[in-house]
Amino acid sequence: MPAKRDYYEVLNVERTATMEEIKRAYRKCAMKYHPDRNPGDAEAERMFKECAEAMEVLGDSEKRQRYDQFGHEGVRGQGVHDFGGMNAQDIFSMFEDAFGDLGLGGIFGGRGRGRGGARRGYDLETSVTIDLDDVLEGTTETVDFTREDLCETCDGSGAKPGTTPETCTTCGGQGKVAMRHGFFQMVRPCPDCAGAGKVVKDKCTECRGSGRRPKSRTLEVKVPAGIHDGQIIRIAGEGEPGTAGAPRGDLHVVVRVQPHKLFERHNDDLVLHMPISFTQAALGAKLEVPTLEGQTELILKAGTQHGQTYTLRQHGLPNLRSGARGSLIVQVMVEIPKKLTEKQADLLREFAETENRDVMPHTTGFWDKIKGYLSGE
Ligand SMILES: [Zn+2]
Ligand SMILES: [Zn+2]
Repeated sequence: MPAKRDYYEVLNVERTATMEEIKRAYRKCAMKYHPDRNPGDAEAERMFKECAEAMEVLGDSEKRQRYDQFGHEGVRGQGVHDFGGMNAQDIFSMFEDAFGDLGLGGIFGGRGRGRGGARRGYDLETSVTIDLDDVLEGTTETVDFTREDLCETCDGSGAKPGTTPETCTTCGGQGKVAMRHGFFQMVRPCPDCAGAGKVVKDKCTECRGSGRRPKSRTLEVKVPAGIHDGQIIRIAGEGEPGTAGAPRGDLHVVVRVQPHKLFERHNDDLVLHMPISFTQAALGAKLEVPTLEGQTELILKAGTQHGQTYTLRQHGLPNLRSGARGSLIVQVMVEIPKKLTEKQADLLREFAETENRDVMPHTTGFWDKIKGYLSGE
């Protein structure tokens, strides 16, 4: 595979381009390189597909953000289609709304299988919920979902077994009708057969002529280690069936990562708020710190301050791309005892008498600052 070009470069827009500018740039590119206008030109087709890929990422604010942050790797496997194997009309219709009210039929009507007739099946969305342990190791989740599938009784034709659908007389079986609209010839799906090209007289009783029946499906989905909440795993060809033999849509599995009761996630790092006693903070201590995998040792330095952080490398989560482990950041919370025994109180009073404010940086700084106020300087 040759190296991929930068998507902004492909569409020839600034990295700060607005959605409108991106759509406009895509329109320009798609019109210029559309295979219908460049028959037999493999380079034009490649450019056309490259534009579609750039549009798919930059035209979606979530994918764009990930691309901006991580580059091509950041959007790999994140619901970006492989346009290499798709036909131009299908690609074109994916980004139809970039063309506004005009519709694609108006521009490239009558060709291909985009409008009317065959249509790619709808994409479906489902979700899985995992926890941080799954993010650490990666996991395989079972998803159950219901999708509209071909009716088994009529094999999707919608016609009663033993009968066959008749050719639609309005469109002559084309599934689409042409209308002139100013300069353009507008092609719309046939209103009488809804683009199917066929009309069912004797309806299948199972599906009442629709040719579709809801069907439940169970799939195993591989969730890679390092995945983030909200990321999408695309499973090609597991959406709804297309019409007239067109390919199925895709299944999008949205990954939800449950919050953990101890650790907060900050990208690939984990943050742990850990209570310590004021004597541990002052004297230093050797602590056992919980990690996702068990526990590890933390040497607390004498004179540790409230809120101070210690970074334990390699104890965070793996990076989705590189697998490199992030850090566990331990932020210590110094607890002051609410109740003291008489002996403890005596010891602290004794301690207080020996207290030397010079070794307490914040206290010294505070009194230095306030001095001016008190003496009226
Ligand atoms: Zn049926
Ligand atoms: Zn028709």
